[in-house]
Amino acid sequence: MQRKLKAAGKEAMVALIEKGSELGAHALSGAVLDPVALRELFPDYQEKGAPVTCEVHHENIYLLTETGQFPVPLIPPPMQNEGNFIMSLGSFVRWLGKQAEEEGVNLFPGFAGVDLLIEDGNVVGVRSGDKGLNKDRQPGDNYEPGVDIKAKVTILGEGPLGTLTRIAYQKLGIGEGKNPQSYATGVKEVWELPAGRTKPGSVIHTMGWPLDSKTFGGGFIYQDDKNLVSIGLVVGLDYADPYLDPHRDFQRMKLHPLIKPLLEGGKMVHYGAKVIPEGGFFSVPRLVSHGMLVVGDSAAMVNVPKLKGIHYAMKAGMLAAETVFEAFDAGDFSAQKLASYQQRVEDSYIWQDLRATRYFKEYFKDGFHVGTLKAGISFYTGGNFPGGTGQGHADYEGMRTIKQVYGSATHPAPQPKFDKQMTFGKLDDVYLSGTKHNEKQPSHLIVKDFDICHTRCKEEYGNPCQRFCPASVYEMVPDPKDRETKLMVNFANCVHCKTCDIKDPYKNILWTPPEGGDGPEYVNL
Ligand code: SF4
Repeated sequence: MQRKLKAAGKEAMVALIEKGSELGAHALSGAVLDPVALRELFPDYQEKGAPVTCEVHHENIYLLTETGQFPVPLIPPPMQNEGNFIMSLGSFVRWLGKQAEEEGVNLFPGFAGVDLLIEDGNVVGVRSGDKGLNKDRQPGDNYEPGVDIKAKVTILGEGPLGTLTRIAYQKLGIGEGKNPQSYATGVKEVWELPAGRTKPGSVIHTMGWPLDSKTFGGGFIYQDDKNLVSIGLVVGLDYADPYLDPHRDFQRMKLHPLIKPLLEGGKMVHYGAKVIPEGGFFSVPRLVSHGMLVVGDSAAMVNVPKLKGIHYAMKAGMLAAETVFEAFDAGDFSAQKLASYQQRVEDSYIWQDLRATRYFKEYFKDGFHVGTLKAGISFYTGGNFPGGTGQGHADYEGMRTIKQVYGSATHPAPQPKFDKQMTFGKLDDVYLSGTKHNEKQPSHLIVKDFDICHTRCKEEYGNPCQRFCPASVYEMVPDPKDRETKLMVNFANCVHCKTCDIKDPYKNILWTPPEGGDGPEYVNL
């Protein structure tokens, strides 16, 4: 767009800020790419060296039991991946960044957006976070204050539960009349396998074990053309059991007879975790405000049954760029002028797909079997039958107490064990996410009331943050003063997945951006 604006004689600069140390450092997905938007944006993407080379050739869905598996005989057409590509989102984002830079876009990695600048109801830019604050939030030796980046139009594409998008929800009401957002946590490892072991282009999805029939989610195993396998488990965060631990269940999943022989003798080389917005059609916020547009995961643009949103994020970005170009032509950046972006999205395949899958997650509220049956029918009726209420709830409301789930408040929590060959503890995994934070800064994880953690949450839920966090950030440790256990927050381990902000049953944790450039250094994820 930068080049197009220049060619049209417009004095404008396109800037992109990214909280990771480089573009792609915080990008994580399965990933199987539907190349529809890529082909539209870069018809010559292969000549340009896009890291998209491994086409899907084999596809299976299995229903797992603890010791066996049943192949799903027919994969409904909307779920099929033929013609899509297995790839690493991080590598793809790095490549896209290069293309953007060649078009004249200014990239600012290492800048975390911490506030949305709003004047008289107009979004006029973004404030980046300070660097070099001490634990007491006072400037330290290497202090660098954040900067205000002013813009005619700000496009929010922050991924799920973005900090700036949350401010737009709170101050600009973009979520009014919509369902609360709902999410899943995806936990993923990349394994390097002995040459010749992988079947490049193979996609496997699993349902059932290790999740119980009331928990929404499933596994994925994608084999690429470089002897790498991406394997992961996605768990809907509306689950009830306070003892559920997505990371632990993922480790168990790898021991299944379908999966273990594939990984045995291989080496786990990368790890990451991230939430996925799963609220779908009824959770898409208003996409436009004065001087602001929202794209991609930040706007819940994810097709839940297909586990895909990258092509929607790209398409939404392209539609946003067209809209902004027109706004520059007219010199008008009001919500009225930018409203054509909302219309463009609603006229596109993004909307069509989200609409056709609008009840998908709701089908599963009565359990796996009913949900599968309803979803199967809906695939053949374009999502029109069976219907649903279209109502949703915030995920934290779904959690039940230990007593409600296990019948006794003293039921012990599971104590997982890991062999460090096939299965790994959270800290071993975090090491392979490349996560680093300046430990002199204040914690970016704000626990609003520690008393709740030490009393009600401990008794009722057994401090589930210890389990739903896939990075061992939250730990109940003995306090020598009063022999009670107290919550310790190891913020330096945080992989920025945002699960704690979503799933804490008391809404007691707020995720905020740490210093720009901190966090995971994802490779091949
Ligand atoms: Fe994810 Fe929160 Fe744990 Fe960080 S602290 S890894 S955001 S659950």
